[in-house]
Amino acid sequence: MKKQIAILGSTGSIGTQALQVIEEHPDLYEAYALTANNRVDMLIEQARKFQPEVVVIANEEKYLYLKEALSDLPIKVYAGADAICQVVQEKSVDIVLTAMVGYAGLRPTMAAIRARKVIALANKETMVVAGELINALANEYQTPILPVDSEHSAIFQCLEMQNSLEKIILTASGGPFRTFTMEQLQHVTKEQALKHPNWSMGAKITVDSASMMNKGFEVIEAKWLFGLKPEQIEVVVHPQSVIHSMVEFEDGAVKAQLGVPDMRLPIQYAFSYPQRVRSSFDRLDFMKCNNLTFEAPDTNRFRNLALAYEALNQGGNMPCIVNAANEVVVAAFLKDQISFLGMSDVIEQCMQRVPFIQVPTYENYVSTDAETRRIAAEIVINQMK
Ligand code: NAD
Ligand code: MG
Repeated sequence: MKKQIAILGSTGSIGTQALQVIEEHPDLYEAYALTANNRVDMLIEQARKFQPEVVVIANEEKYLYLKEALSDLPIKVYAGADAICQVVQEKSVDIVLTAMVGYAGLRPTMAAIRARKVIALANKETMVVAGELINALANEYQTPILPVDSEHSAIFQCLEMQNSLEKIILTASGGPFRTFTMEQLQHVTKEQALKHPNWSMGAKITVDSASMMNKGFEVIEAKWLFGLKPEQIEVVVHPQSVIHSMVEFEDGAVKAQLGVPDMRLPIQYAFSYPQRVRSSFDRLDFMKCNNLTFEAPDTNRFRNLALAYEALNQGGNMPCIVNAANEVVVAAFLKDQISFLGMSDVIEQCMQRVPFIQVPTYENYVSTDAETRRIAAEIVINQMK
């Protein structure tokens, strides 16, 4: 039986690479549902090619256009965020790949967990915002959450069932500004931030990588995925992105997963787990890896990483506050409304101003997200004056 896959965010970087994996293994996988936010023409093209059962466009204004364009095909067409939550629950769906960006991933992920679908988790913001709640829910419904983020997939591939680990070492490329001085960082532009040295990704995560908020989020994501204490999670800058992350066991042995930087491998592994299946992806050539280097991250220049650790230590709704503030400032940075370093200032102010809740409910997360966005937007606007 082919595995039926719902791809949330099929028009994005992860989504399109997931479709390449499906295309490479038509005998194993089928795209059951494709969803997107705005890029309706690309969604139409994908629907024509992959013939899914269902497509959903989150932006309801594009519904009629989409419906009309697919009217000659037996594809169900829906619109809106609620429809995405509905579609993941459909009986035939085996795997839900959460490849949409940001807080919007939380609700459909919760719906998919309740429907006992295998979660292939790319949307790290879900774990950042509400990792505790997601874990409790996954536990209650006995739903597996398989990491797609390359670092977490690497760790997942290194784990040993019978042995507990001492710590994990998350590798970070350091992004395009790794060697920049504070003075240089003051003047960097969005065009520079959007040029990642090793990975081609969506705009938001590319800016997060440049500011190292992405690594901060991955630290939080790792805590919840692998049940770790903050002091068990180390970040090492490894600019070549060949080692995708490492696990250190109690006897001091270290296991690493290596490969060329290609997200199709972790996507495919989440689809095929516990098996591995053949792929045509590029192989690692060790003769070209003669310079693998490692250095400590600098939390003075990349303050977001320190803020993420602080949020992790405080717990409660603090990571949710950091995530919401970060979504606002990244959007503002991409519109040239705020400077690169200004982003951390706004996030820090939100951490101080938004009421702290030690044991948040789902409703608390929703209100924290909304309140933080309001405050962050207000600070950004005041700064622009
Ligand atoms: P992207 O911006 O390229 O694509 C995002 C997708 O989500 C698009 O299909 C878009 O239509 C959809 N989307 C956006 N907002 C939405 C909304 N409100 N409702 C419904 N759909 C919405 O992003 P990406 O780089 O593919 O990243 C997707 C997720 O995967 C992010 O959470 C990111 O952190 C994570 N991730 C990405 C990579 C990577 O290599 N790109 C690696 C690891 C983790
Ligand atoms: Mg990653």
